[in-house]
Amino acid sequence: MIITSIMFGENIIPLKQSFVTALRRVEYLESIVVCVKTESGWIGYGETAPTEAITGESKRSIMTALRRVQKEIIGEDLANLDAVLRKMHATIDGHPNAQSAMEIALYDLAAQAAGLPLVTYLGGSSIRSLETGITISLGSSEEMVAQALHALDDGYRSLKIKLGADPREDLERIVAIHDAVGEGARLKLDANQGWSTKEAIAFLSAIEARKIPVELIEQPLPREDLSGLAEVRRHTTVPILVDESVFTLEDAKAVLARGAADCINIKLDKCGGISEALRIADLCAEANVPCMMGCMLEGAVSVGAAAHVAAARPETITMIDLDAPMLCADQPVRGGVVFSGAAITIPERSGLGIEEIAGVMWWE
Ligand SMILES: [Mg+2]
Repeated sequence: MIITSIMFGENIIPLKQSFVTALRRVEYLESIVVCVKTESGWIGYGETAPTEAITGESKRSIMTALRRVQKEIIGEDLANLDAVLRKMHATIDGHPNAQSAMEIALYDLAAQAAGLPLVTYLGGSSIRSLETGITISLGSSEEMVAQALHALDDGYRSLKIKLGADPREDLERIVAIHDAVGEGARLKLDANQGWSTKEAIAFLSAIEARKIPVELIEQPLPREDLSGLAEVRRHTTVPILVDESVFTLEDAKAVLARGAADCINIKLDKCGGISEALRIADLCAEANVPCMMGCMLEGAVSVGAAAHVAAARPETITMIDLDAPMLCADQPVRGGVVFSGAAITIPERSGLGIEEIAGVMWWE
């Protein structure tokens, strides 16, 4: 299991429609793909998406980190996965996107060598199918209602509504969406750090007064405002999910210690890969705090890996928000996890099960 080559490149995948949050507007999914080969002929794939507004990593910084890691770990023996992972993380510490892409590829190889689907390699049992919700982009009430009705037609039963622009307009948006979908879907809200403590408390009181059933509110306040989050939490019955406030295990410990959240959104691109994601899930399991498995605007390789991780910890990771591949106009990955509407299916193949990724422009 000696690593003989590491290649990387990019894949630009058009979206079916623009993706809009309180922080950004995007027309394409930008994926950076890693391909690691071993002397025995195994091929492992990894992926990440440069989301500079969130992780601080640009395409250039990810590429620089991958070049550095390439020099360090070619020639290493994957028979000792933990040692290779430690060396990789030490080489590119502080580059969560690059670290995650490398971890996914290395875990893919380790699971293939063990002859197991990644979910099983990670200690999961027989779960092979998951149900994801879908994100409704920020827009006018009319646009968002149209998107929501379209999502119901497509079979989604959980909608994540992007808010966080202006709290008064946000209230109009959610009232309009609730009126339109009724009992047809569960509603989750994501304000992407867009509100103040006062605004969040006022918004959630208004939701409660109108008896609009909302499953949770995601990241109402700026990521560092843990005392504000704790205060909002004391003033509402709507569970608070943190996303941007938790990148790493240490962040998760701080959030739980401060009583700043009811649940935590884990994303591989934030925490630097599969092993840290599992550590966060295990911490939350101990604290009886449910998790969501989420994703950035990533492709089917890394979102597929996230599906394996979620399926490996079903008691803790009870919410699945892995819709990014379904927002794409093309499906370039063959052989891996299958994304079809709300249904995510993990194949009975070893590793991630990927045969081919079309359209990658390899950098070398
Ligand atoms: Mg979020």
